[in-house]
Amino acid sequence: MSGNLFGRLCAPGPDESRAFIRLPAGGVISYADLLARSAQYANALLDLGVEPGDRVLVQADKSPQIIHLYLGCLRAGALFLPLNTAYTLAEVEYFIGDAQPRVVVCAPGKLAALLTLARRLGVAHVVTLGAGAQGGSLAERANASDTLCFDVPREDADVATILYTSGTTGRSKGAMLTHGNLAANAFALKACWRFTSDDVLLHALPLFHIHGLFVAVNVTLAARASMVLLPSFDVDAVVAHLSEVTVFMGVPTHYVRLLQDDRVGPALAANVRLFVSGSAPLLAETHRDWLARTGHAILERYGMTETGINTSNPYGGERVPGAVGQPLPGVSVRVVDAESGAALPAGATGMIEIKGPNVFAGYWRMPDRTHAEFRDDGYFVTGDVGMLDARGYLYIVGRSKDLIITGGFNVYPREVEAEIDAVAGVVESAVFGVPHPDFGEGVTAAVVTRDAGSEERLLAHLKQRLAGYKCPKRILFVAELPRNTMGKVQKNVLRDQHAGLYHLPAVAATPRSLTS
Ligand code: AMP
Repeated sequence: MSGNLFGRLCAPGPDESRAFIRLPAGGVISYADLLARSAQYANALLDLGVEPGDRVLVQADKSPQIIHLYLGCLRAGALFLPLNTAYTLAEVEYFIGDAQPRVVVCAPGKLAALLTLARRLGVAHVVTLGAGAQGGSLAERANASDTLCFDVPREDADVATILYTSGTTGRSKGAMLTHGNLAANAFALKACWRFTSDDVLLHALPLFHIHGLFVAVNVTLAARASMVLLPSFDVDAVVAHLSEVTVFMGVPTHYVRLLQDDRVGPALAANVRLFVSGSAPLLAETHRDWLARTGHAILERYGMTETGINTSNPYGGERVPGAVGQPLPGVSVRVVDAESGAALPAGATGMIEIKGPNVFAGYWRMPDRTHAEFRDDGYFVTGDVGMLDARGYLYIVGRSKDLIITGGFNVYPREVEAEIDAVAGVVESAVFGVPHPDFGEGVTAAVVTRDAGSEERLLAHLKQRLAGYKCPKRILFVAELPRNTMGKVQKNVLRDQHAGLYHLPAVAATPRSLTS
Protein backbone atom coordinates (compact mmCIF):
# COMPACT_ATOMS: atom_id res chain seq x y z
CA MET A 1 0.00 0.00 0.00
CA SER A 2 1.28 3.45 -0.72
CA GLY A 3 -0.03 6.89 -1.53
CA ASN A 4 -1.63 9.77 0.28
CA LEU A 5 -3.64 8.52 3.26
CA PHE A 6 -6.55 10.70 2.16
CA GLY A 7 -6.92 8.75 -1.08
CA ARG A 8 -6.75 5.46 0.76
CA LEU A 9 -9.39 6.43 3.30
CA CYS A 10 -11.69 8.59 1.21
CA ALA A 11 -11.53 7.34 -2.37
CA PRO A 12 -14.73 8.51 -4.10
CA GLY A 13 -17.27 5.70 -4.28
CA PRO A 14 -20.68 5.09 -5.80
CA ASP A 15 -22.39 5.83 -2.50
CA GLU A 16 -21.21 9.36 -1.81
CA SER A 17 -24.58 10.54 -0.57
CA ARG A 18 -24.31 8.23 2.45
CA ALA A 19 -23.77 9.84 5.85
CA PHE A 20 -20.29 10.22 7.26
CA ILE A 21 -21.20 12.38 10.27
CA ARG A 22 -24.60 12.59 11.90
CA LEU A 23 -24.83 15.62 14.13
CA PRO A 24 -26.59 15.08 17.47
CA ALA A 25 -28.77 18.15 16.92
CA GLY A 26 -29.79 16.85 13.47
CA GLY A 27 -28.13 17.28 10.10
CA VAL A 28 -25.80 15.05 8.15
CA ILE A 29 -22.39 15.47 6.54
CA SER A 30 -22.20 13.03 3.65
CA TYR A 31 -19.12 11.47 2.08
CA ALA A 32 -19.64 13.83 -0.87
CA ASP A 33 -19.64 16.79 1.56
CA LEU A 34 -16.45 15.43 3.08
CA LEU A 35 -14.69 15.40 -0.29
CA ALA A 36 -15.78 18.97 -1.01
CA ARG A 37 -15.12 20.37 2.47
CA SER A 38 -11.69 18.78 2.84
CA ALA A 39 -10.74 20.22 -0.58
CA GLN A 40 -11.88 23.65 0.60
CA TYR A 41 -9.70 23.38 3.69
CA ALA A 42 -6.74 22.17 1.59
CA ASN A 43 -7.23 25.15 -0.73
CA ALA A 44 -7.53 27.55 2.21
CA LEU A 45 -4.20 26.25 3.53
CA LEU A 46 -2.58 26.65 0.11
CA ASP A 47 -3.82 30.26 0.07
CA LEU A 48 -2.03 30.78 3.35
CA GLY A 49 1.18 29.61 1.69
CA VAL A 50 1.23 26.15 3.28
CA GLU A 51 3.59 23.79 1.47
CA PRO A 52 4.06 20.03 1.81
CA GLY A 53 5.84 19.30 5.08
CA ASP A 54 4.64 22.51 6.79
CA ARG A 55 3.07 22.09 10.22
CA VAL A 56 -0.50 23.22 10.92
CA LEU A 57 -0.94 23.46 14.68
CA VAL A 58 -4.53 23.23 15.89
CA GLN A 59 -5.97 23.94 19.31
CA ALA A 60 -9.71 24.22 18.80
CA ASP A 61 -12.91 22.75 20.20
CA LYS A 62 -14.17 19.47 18.81
CA SER A 63 -16.28 19.90 15.67
CA PRO A 64 -16.74 18.34 12.21
CA GLN A 65 -14.60 21.21 10.85
CA ILE A 66 -11.57 19.78 12.67
CA ILE A 67 -12.00 16.55 10.69
CA HIS A 68 -12.30 18.53 7.45
CA LEU A 69 -9.13 20.39 8.39
CA TYR A 70 -7.29 17.16 9.25
CA LEU A 71 -8.21 15.71 5.86
CA GLY A 72 -7.40 19.02 4.16
CA CYS A 73 -3.91 18.84 5.69
CA LEU A 74 -3.45 15.32 4.29
CA ARG A 75 -4.53 16.51 0.84
CA ALA A 76 -2.16 19.50 0.97
CA GLY A 77 0.71 17.32 2.26
CA ALA A 78 0.85 19.43 5.44
CA LEU A 79 1.45 17.93 8.88
CA PHE A 80 -1.66 18.07 11.08
CA LEU A 81 -0.65 18.84 14.65
CA PRO A 82 -3.60 18.79 17.09
CA LEU A 83 -3.12 19.96 20.68
CA ASN A 84 -5.07 19.16 23.80
CA THR A 85 -7.61 21.95 24.28
CA ALA A 86 -6.72 22.04 27.99
CA TYR A 87 -3.15 23.22 27.35
CA THR A 88 -2.42 26.67 28.74
CA LEU A 89 -0.79 29.45 26.78
CA ALA A 90 2.53 28.70 28.48
CA GLU A 91 2.29 25.09 27.32
CA VAL A 92 1.24 26.08 23.80
CA GLU A 93 4.31 28.31 23.64
CA TYR A 94 6.52 25.24 23.99
CA PHE A 95 4.68 23.41 21.19
CA ILE A 96 4.82 26.36 18.80
CA GLY A 97 8.50 26.86 19.54
CA ASP A 98 9.23 23.18 18.99
CA ALA A 99 7.07 22.51 15.93
CA GLN A 100 7.51 25.89 14.21
CA PRO A 101 4.17 25.71 12.41
CA ARG A 102 3.37 27.89 9.41
CA VAL A 103 -0.24 28.19 10.57
CA VAL A 104 -1.75 28.16 14.06
CA VAL A 105 -5.48 27.42 14.23
CA CYS A 106 -7.20 28.34 17.49
CA ALA A 107 -10.66 28.79 18.98
CA PRO A 108 -12.02 32.31 18.33
CA GLY A 109 -11.87 33.13 22.04
CA LYS A 110 -8.13 32.49 22.19
CA LEU A 111 -7.15 34.62 19.20
CA ALA A 112 -5.91 37.72 21.01
CA ALA A 113 -3.60 35.83 23.36
CA LEU A 114 -2.30 33.52 20.66
CA LEU A 115 -1.64 36.32 18.17
CA THR A 116 0.85 37.97 20.48
CA LEU A 117 2.58 34.71 21.25
CA ALA A 118 2.63 33.47 17.66
CA ARG A 119 4.01 36.77 16.33
CA ARG A 120 6.83 36.61 18.85
CA LEU A 121 7.63 33.06 17.73
CA GLY A 122 7.57 33.94 14.03
CA VAL A 123 4.38 32.08 13.00
CA ALA A 124 3.16 33.30 9.60
CA HIS A 125 -0.61 33.00 10.23
CA VAL A 126 -3.00 32.64 13.16
CA VAL A 127 -6.54 31.78 12.09
CA THR A 128 -9.62 30.72 14.01
CA LEU A 129 -11.97 27.77 13.86
CA GLY A 130 -15.04 27.63 16.05
CA ALA A 131 -17.34 24.77 16.90
CA GLY A 132 -20.99 25.01 15.85
CA ALA A 133 -22.18 28.31 14.44
CA GLN A 134 -19.12 30.20 15.64
CA GLY A 135 -17.33 29.88 12.29
CA GLY A 136 -13.96 31.54 12.44
CA SER A 137 -11.56 33.06 9.94
CA LEU A 138 -10.30 29.70 8.67
CA ALA A 139 -13.87 28.45 8.19
CA GLU A 140 -14.62 31.64 6.22
CA ARG A 141 -11.59 31.15 4.02
CA ALA A 142 -12.56 27.52 3.44
CA ASN A 143 -16.16 28.41 2.63
CA ALA A 144 -14.93 30.76 -0.08
CA SER A 145 -12.51 28.19 -1.58
CA ASP A 146 -12.89 25.76 -4.44
CA THR A 147 -14.43 22.35 -3.66
CA LEU A 148 -11.90 20.53 -5.82
CA CYS A 149 -8.21 20.23 -5.11
CA PHE A 150 -5.09 18.43 -6.23
CA ASP A 151 -3.98 15.85 -3.64
CA VAL A 152 -0.25 16.10 -3.05
CA PRO A 153 1.32 12.70 -3.79
CA ARG A 154 2.66 11.08 -0.63
CA GLU A 155 4.49 7.82 0.05
CA ASP A 156 4.20 5.49 3.05
CA ALA A 157 7.25 7.03 4.70
CA ASP A 158 6.03 10.64 4.46
CA VAL A 159 4.95 12.15 7.76
CA ALA A 160 1.21 12.88 8.01
CA THR A 161 0.93 14.18 11.54
CA ILE A 162 2.84 15.08 14.66
CA LEU A 163 1.15 14.04 17.88
CA TYR A 164 2.77 15.19 21.07
CA THR A 165 3.05 12.61 23.84
CA SER A 166 1.29 13.50 27.06
CA GLY A 167 4.72 13.99 28.62
CA THR A 168 4.19 13.13 32.26
CA THR A 169 7.95 13.25 32.80
CA GLY A 170 10.17 15.79 31.09
CA ARG A 171 9.40 17.52 27.81
CA SER A 172 6.57 16.36 25.64
CA LYS A 173 7.90 14.74 22.44
CA GLY A 174 6.38 15.08 18.97
CA ALA A 175 5.72 11.61 17.56
CA MET A 176 5.87 11.66 13.74
CA LEU A 177 3.28 9.30 12.29
CA THR A 178 3.44 8.61 8.58
CA HIS A 179 0.77 8.10 5.92
CA GLY A 180 1.83 4.42 5.94
CA ASN A 181 1.55 4.09 9.75
CA LEU A 182 -1.98 5.46 9.85
CA ALA A 183 -3.19 3.50 6.82
CA ALA A 184 -1.80 0.21 8.13
CA ASN A 185 -3.45 0.67 11.52
CA ALA A 186 -6.82 1.83 10.16
CA PHE A 187 -7.20 -1.11 7.80
CA ALA A 188 -5.92 -3.67 10.34
CA LEU A 189 -8.48 -2.45 12.90
CA LYS A 190 -11.27 -2.32 10.34
CA ALA A 191 -10.66 -6.00 9.61
CA CYS A 192 -10.14 -7.10 13.25
CA TRP A 193 -13.19 -5.31 14.56
CA ARG A 194 -15.23 -6.23 11.45
CA PHE A 195 -16.24 -2.69 10.59
CA THR A 196 -18.56 -2.35 7.58
CA SER A 197 -20.45 0.48 5.94
CA ASP A 198 -23.46 -0.53 8.05
CA ASP A 199 -21.70 0.57 11.23
CA VAL A 200 -22.50 3.74 13.13
CA LEU A 201 -19.96 4.80 15.75
CA LEU A 202 -20.84 6.93 18.77
CA HIS A 203 -17.89 9.33 18.90
CA ALA A 204 -17.46 10.82 22.38
CA LEU A 205 -13.64 11.11 22.45
CA PRO A 206 -11.46 14.19 21.90
CA LEU A 207 -10.10 14.79 18.39
CA PHE A 208 -6.59 15.73 19.56
CA HIS A 209 -5.62 12.23 20.72
CA ILE A 210 -4.79 9.07 18.77
CA HIS A 211 -7.88 7.27 20.12
CA GLY A 212 -10.53 9.71 18.93
CA LEU A 213 -8.73 10.80 15.78
CA PHE A 214 -6.81 7.93 14.23
CA VAL A 215 -8.67 5.00 15.74
CA ALA A 216 -12.24 6.28 15.72
CA VAL A 217 -12.23 8.56 12.66
CA ASN A 218 -9.82 6.64 10.42
CA VAL A 219 -11.47 3.27 11.01
CA THR A 220 -14.90 4.78 10.30
CA LEU A 221 -13.57 6.26 7.05
CA ALA A 222 -11.78 3.05 6.06
CA ALA A 223 -15.10 1.20 6.35
CA ARG A 224 -17.19 4.02 4.84
CA ALA A 225 -19.23 3.82 8.01
CA SER A 226 -20.97 6.68 9.86
CA MET A 227 -20.51 8.35 13.20
CA VAL A 228 -22.61 10.36 15.60
CA LEU A 229 -20.18 13.09 16.65
CA LEU A 230 -20.76 14.26 20.21
CA PRO A 231 -19.01 17.48 21.30
CA SER A 232 -17.58 15.61 24.30
CA PHE A 233 -18.29 12.68 26.58
CA ASP A 234 -21.46 13.22 28.56
CA VAL A 235 -23.52 10.44 30.16
CA ASP A 236 -26.87 11.94 29.13
CA ALA A 237 -25.73 12.38 25.53
CA VAL A 238 -24.38 8.82 25.35
CA VAL A 239 -27.61 7.47 26.80
CA ALA A 240 -29.60 9.58 24.31
CA HIS A 241 -27.74 8.23 21.26
CA LEU A 242 -26.62 4.71 22.19
CA SER A 243 -29.64 3.03 20.65
CA GLU A 244 -28.84 4.69 17.26
CA VAL A 245 -25.33 3.22 16.98
CA THR A 246 -23.57 -0.11 16.52
CA VAL A 247 -20.17 0.70 18.08
CA PHE A 248 -19.00 2.71 21.08
CA MET A 249 -15.35 3.50 21.81
CA GLY A 250 -14.46 4.82 25.24
CA VAL A 251 -11.82 5.11 27.91
CA PRO A 252 -12.33 3.15 31.14
CA THR A 253 -13.69 6.18 33.02
CA HIS A 254 -16.52 6.41 30.48
CA TYR A 255 -17.62 2.87 31.31
CA VAL A 256 -17.33 3.53 35.05
CA ARG A 257 -19.50 6.64 34.71
CA LEU A 258 -22.06 4.91 32.51
CA LEU A 259 -22.33 2.05 35.01
CA GLN A 260 -23.39 4.60 37.63
CA ASP A 261 -26.48 5.39 35.53
CA ASP A 262 -29.51 3.11 35.88
CA ARG A 263 -30.67 3.80 32.33
CA VAL A 264 -27.73 1.77 30.99
CA GLY A 265 -28.89 -1.80 30.46
CA PRO A 266 -29.53 -4.46 27.81
CA ALA A 267 -32.35 -2.55 26.12
CA LEU A 268 -30.25 0.59 25.61
CA ALA A 269 -27.32 -1.47 24.27
CA ALA A 270 -29.44 -3.80 22.11
CA ASN A 271 -28.38 -2.24 18.79
CA VAL A 272 -24.67 -2.09 19.71
CA ARG A 273 -22.45 -4.89 18.43
CA LEU A 274 -19.13 -3.69 19.89
CA PHE A 275 -17.90 -1.76 22.92
CA VAL A 276 -14.18 -0.90 22.78
CA SER A 277 -12.02 0.38 25.64
CA GLY A 278 -8.44 1.63 25.69
CA SER A 279 -5.96 4.40 26.54
CA ALA A 280 -5.85 3.36 30.21
CA PRO A 281 -6.29 0.09 32.10
CA LEU A 282 -9.84 -1.24 32.31
CA LEU A 283 -10.40 -2.88 35.67
CA ALA A 284 -11.43 -6.53 35.37
CA GLU A 285 -14.28 -5.58 37.71
CA THR A 286 -15.57 -2.94 35.27
CA HIS A 287 -15.37 -5.50 32.45
CA ARG A 288 -17.44 -7.96 34.48
CA ASP A 289 -19.93 -5.33 35.67
CA TRP A 290 -20.50 -4.15 32.09
CA LEU A 291 -21.06 -7.73 30.92
CA ALA A 292 -23.53 -8.35 33.73
CA ARG A 293 -25.37 -5.08 33.08
CA THR A 294 -25.52 -5.00 29.28
CA GLY A 295 -24.68 -8.51 28.10
CA HIS A 296 -21.63 -7.17 26.22
CA ALA A 297 -17.99 -8.13 26.88
CA ILE A 298 -15.97 -4.93 26.37
CA LEU A 299 -13.19 -5.41 23.83
CA GLU A 300 -10.02 -3.96 25.37
CA ARG A 301 -7.10 -2.94 23.19
CA TYR A 302 -3.66 -1.41 23.80
CA GLY A 303 -2.05 1.41 21.94
CA MET A 304 -0.04 4.57 22.30
CA THR A 305 0.69 7.83 20.54
CA GLU A 306 3.86 6.46 18.95
CA THR A 307 2.29 3.31 17.53
CA GLY A 308 -1.46 3.53 17.24
CA ILE A 309 -3.01 0.24 18.28
CA ASN A 310 -0.71 -2.74 18.91
CA THR A 311 -2.88 -5.44 20.42
CA SER A 312 -6.57 -6.16 20.68
CA ASN A 313 -8.75 -8.74 22.31
CA PRO A 314 -10.37 -10.79 19.57
CA TYR A 315 -13.70 -9.89 18.02
CA GLY A 316 -14.68 -13.53 17.66
CA GLY A 317 -12.64 -15.24 20.40
CA GLU A 318 -12.33 -14.84 24.15
CA ARG A 319 -12.14 -11.26 25.48
CA VAL A 320 -10.13 -11.73 28.64
CA PRO A 321 -10.79 -9.25 31.46
CA GLY A 322 -7.51 -7.62 32.50
CA ALA A 323 -5.72 -8.56 29.24
CA VAL A 324 -5.16 -6.19 26.31
CA GLY A 325 -5.32 -8.98 23.74
CA GLN A 326 -3.07 -10.31 21.02
CA PRO A 327 -0.92 -8.48 18.43
CA LEU A 328 -2.75 -7.07 15.41
CA PRO A 329 -1.84 -8.72 12.08
CA GLY A 330 1.60 -7.48 10.97
CA VAL A 331 2.53 -6.25 14.46
CA SER A 332 5.19 -8.05 16.52
CA VAL A 333 5.12 -7.79 20.29
CA ARG A 334 7.83 -9.11 22.57
CA VAL A 335 8.59 -8.89 26.27
CA VAL A 336 12.27 -8.48 27.11
CA ASP A 337 14.61 -8.00 30.00
CA ALA A 338 14.89 -4.21 30.13
CA GLU A 339 18.64 -4.24 30.81
CA SER A 340 19.94 -6.92 28.44
CA GLY A 341 17.16 -6.76 25.82
CA ALA A 342 16.93 -10.57 25.87
CA ALA A 343 13.48 -11.93 25.00
CA LEU A 344 11.66 -13.44 27.99
CA PRO A 345 9.50 -16.59 27.93
CA ALA A 346 5.71 -16.62 28.29
CA GLY A 347 4.64 -15.75 31.81
CA ALA A 348 7.67 -13.54 32.56
CA THR A 349 7.27 -9.84 33.21
CA GLY A 350 9.46 -7.32 31.39
CA MET A 351 9.59 -4.41 28.95
CA ILE A 352 7.07 -4.49 26.09
CA GLU A 353 8.62 -3.84 22.66
CA ILE A 354 6.79 -3.39 19.36
CA LYS A 355 7.69 -3.63 15.69
CA GLY A 356 5.36 -3.20 12.74
CA PRO A 357 4.02 -0.91 10.03
CA ASN A 358 2.17 1.06 12.73
CA VAL A 359 5.33 2.15 14.57
CA PHE A 360 6.14 5.85 14.18
CA ALA A 361 9.04 7.36 12.25
CA GLY A 362 10.68 8.98 15.30
CA TYR A 363 10.40 12.03 17.51
CA TRP A 364 10.30 15.42 15.80
CA ARG A 365 13.76 16.97 15.86
CA MET A 366 14.93 14.60 18.61
CA PRO A 367 17.19 12.10 16.83
CA ASP A 368 18.94 11.12 20.07
CA ARG A 369 15.70 10.34 21.89
CA THR A 370 14.49 8.41 18.84
CA HIS A 371 17.72 6.43 18.72
CA ALA A 372 17.54 5.69 22.46
CA GLU A 373 14.04 4.24 22.22
CA PHE A 374 14.62 1.81 19.35
CA ARG A 375 16.60 -1.44 19.51
CA ASP A 376 19.07 -2.19 16.72
CA ASP A 377 16.65 -4.73 15.22
CA GLY A 378 13.92 -2.09 14.84
CA TYR A 379 11.78 -2.79 17.93
CA PHE A 380 10.38 0.27 19.72
CA VAL A 381 10.86 0.23 23.49
CA THR A 382 7.39 1.24 24.70
CA GLY A 383 8.19 2.00 28.34
CA ASP A 384 5.28 -0.27 29.33
CA VAL A 385 5.96 -3.30 31.48
CA GLY A 386 3.93 -6.43 30.84
CA MET A 387 3.64 -10.15 30.33
CA LEU A 388 2.61 -12.38 27.42
CA ASP A 389 0.80 -15.56 28.42
CA ALA A 390 1.08 -18.92 26.67
CA ARG A 391 -1.84 -18.02 24.35
CA GLY A 392 -0.17 -14.77 23.29
CA TYR A 393 -2.47 -12.46 25.30
CA LEU A 394 -0.64 -9.42 26.61
CA TYR A 395 -1.12 -8.12 30.16
CA ILE A 396 0.10 -4.63 31.07
CA VAL A 397 1.56 -4.17 34.52
CA GLY A 398 2.28 -0.44 34.24
CA ARG A 399 4.72 2.13 32.89
CA SER A 400 8.37 1.31 33.66
CA LYS A 401 8.78 4.77 35.14
CA ASP A 402 6.00 3.90 37.60
CA LEU A 403 7.85 0.77 38.74
CA ILE A 404 8.67 1.08 42.44
CA ILE A 405 12.03 -0.06 43.74
CA THR A 406 11.80 -0.48 47.48
CA GLY A 407 14.62 -1.92 49.55
CA GLY A 408 16.09 -3.30 46.31
CA PHE A 409 12.88 -5.14 45.33
CA ASN A 410 10.77 -4.32 42.28
CA VAL A 411 7.09 -3.70 42.92
CA TYR A 412 4.67 -3.49 40.00
CA PRO A 413 1.88 -1.10 41.04
CA ARG A 414 -0.82 -2.96 39.10
CA GLU A 415 -0.41 -6.08 41.24
CA VAL A 416 -0.91 -4.10 44.45
CA GLU A 417 -3.77 -2.09 42.93
CA ALA A 418 -5.56 -5.31 41.95
CA GLU A 419 -5.44 -6.51 45.58
CA ILE A 420 -6.67 -3.18 46.93
CA ASP A 421 -9.42 -2.89 44.32
CA ALA A 422 -10.72 -6.35 45.25
CA VAL A 423 -11.51 -5.19 48.80
CA ALA A 424 -15.21 -4.53 49.39
CA GLY A 425 -15.94 -0.82 49.52
CA VAL A 426 -12.90 0.23 47.46
CA VAL A 427 -13.80 2.14 44.29
CA GLU A 428 -10.31 2.42 42.80
CA SER A 429 -6.70 2.91 43.75
CA ALA A 430 -3.33 4.09 42.49
CA VAL A 431 -0.07 2.77 43.86
CA PHE A 432 3.10 4.82 43.47
CA GLY A 433 6.54 5.27 44.98
CA VAL A 434 7.81 8.28 46.90
CA PRO A 435 11.26 8.84 48.44
CA HIS A 436 11.78 6.92 51.67
CA PRO A 437 14.81 7.33 53.95
CA ASP A 438 15.24 3.58 54.57
CA PHE A 439 13.86 1.90 51.49
CA GLY A 440 14.77 4.31 48.70
CA GLU A 441 11.13 4.40 47.67
CA GLY A 442 8.14 3.69 49.87
CA VAL A 443 5.16 1.89 48.31
CA THR A 444 2.21 4.27 48.75
CA ALA A 445 -1.44 3.89 47.82
CA ALA A 446 -4.07 6.53 47.10
CA VAL A 447 -7.47 4.91 47.52
CA VAL A 448 -10.97 6.07 46.65
CA THR A 449 -13.43 4.24 48.85
CA ARG A 450 -17.10 4.06 49.65
CA ASP A 451 -16.35 2.40 52.95
CA ALA A 452 -13.31 0.18 53.16
CA GLY A 453 -12.62 0.79 56.85
CA SER A 454 -9.50 2.32 58.32
CA GLU A 455 -5.98 2.44 56.93
CA GLU A 456 -4.89 -0.06 59.57
CA ARG A 457 -7.59 -2.58 58.63
CA LEU A 458 -6.85 -2.30 54.93
CA LEU A 459 -3.12 -2.72 55.56
CA ALA A 460 -3.72 -5.74 57.76
CA HIS A 461 -5.77 -7.30 54.95
CA LEU A 462 -3.09 -6.59 52.31
CA LYS A 463 -0.42 -8.16 54.52
CA GLN A 464 -2.35 -11.44 54.26
CA ARG A 465 -2.33 -11.20 50.47
CA LEU A 466 1.02 -9.67 49.44
CA ALA A 467 4.69 -10.16 50.30
CA GLY A 468 5.70 -7.62 52.96
CA TYR A 469 7.84 -5.49 50.61
CA LYS A 470 4.87 -5.01 48.24
CA CYS A 471 2.52 -3.77 50.96
CA PRO A 472 2.01 -0.01 51.02
CA LYS A 473 3.79 1.81 53.81
CA ARG A 474 0.89 4.24 53.81
CA ILE A 475 -2.62 4.24 52.41
CA LEU A 476 -4.05 7.68 51.71
CA PHE A 477 -7.79 7.95 51.33
CA VAL A 478 -8.67 10.49 48.64
CA ALA A 479 -11.91 11.81 47.12
CA GLU A 480 -10.70 11.11 43.56
CA LEU A 481 -7.58 10.19 41.64
CA PRO A 482 -5.95 12.87 39.45
CA ARG A 483 -6.59 12.01 35.79
CA ASN A 484 -5.83 13.53 32.41
CA THR A 485 -8.46 14.00 29.72
CA MET A 486 -8.00 10.45 28.45
CA GLY A 487 -8.78 9.07 31.89
CA LYS A 488 -5.18 8.11 32.69
CA VAL A 489 -4.26 8.36 36.35
CA GLN A 490 -1.46 10.92 36.71
CA LYS A 491 0.96 9.18 39.02
CA ASN A 492 3.47 11.97 38.56
CA VAL A 493 0.96 14.30 40.24
CA LEU A 494 0.55 11.87 43.15
CA ARG A 495 4.34 11.47 43.46
CA ASP A 496 4.76 15.27 43.57
CA GLN A 497 1.89 15.82 46.00
CA HIS A 498 3.19 13.28 48.48
CA ALA A 499 6.94 13.62 47.91
CA GLY A 500 7.57 14.51 51.56
CA LEU A 501 5.38 11.79 53.07
CA TYR A 502 8.14 9.69 54.60
CA HIS A 503 10.24 12.63 55.70
CA LEU A 504 7.56 13.78 58.13
CA PRO A 505 7.78 11.39 61.10
CA ALA A 506 4.74 12.85 62.87
CA VAL A 507 2.45 12.12 59.90
CA ALA A 508 3.98 8.72 59.17
CA ALA A 509 3.42 7.53 62.72
CA THR A 510 -0.26 8.44 62.90
CA PRO A 511 -2.70 5.74 61.83
CA ARG A 512 -5.58 7.29 59.92
CA SER A 513 -9.11 6.42 59.08
CA LEU A 514 -11.18 7.74 56.21
CA THR A 515 -10.13 11.20 55.09
CA SER A 516 -10.23 12.87 51.73
P1 AMP B 1 -1.00 7.71 24.96
O1 AMP B 1 0.25 7.84 24.20
O2 AMP B 1 -1.46 8.96 25.63
O3 AMP B 1 -2.10 7.08 24.15
O4 AMP B 1 -0.70 6.72 26.16
C1 AMP B 1 -0.23 5.44 25.87
C2 AMP B 1 -0.12 4.64 27.14
O5 AMP B 1 -1.41 4.39 27.70
C3 AMP B 1 0.47 3.28 26.91
O6 AMP B 1 1.87 3.32 26.79
C4 AMP B 1 -0.03 2.53 28.12
O7 AMP B 1 0.80 2.82 29.24
C5 AMP B 1 -1.41 3.14 28.35
N1 AMP B 1 -2.47 2.30 27.79
C6 AMP B 1 -3.07 2.39 26.60
N2 AMP B 1 -4.02 1.44 26.46
C7 AMP B 1 -4.00 0.72 27.60
C8 AMP B 1 -4.73 -0.39 28.09
N3 AMP B 1 -5.70 -0.95 27.38
N4 AMP B 1 -4.41 -0.87 29.32
C9 AMP B 1 -3.44 -0.30 30.06
N5 AMP B 1 -2.72 0.76 29.66
C10 AMP B 1 -3.00 1.27 28.45
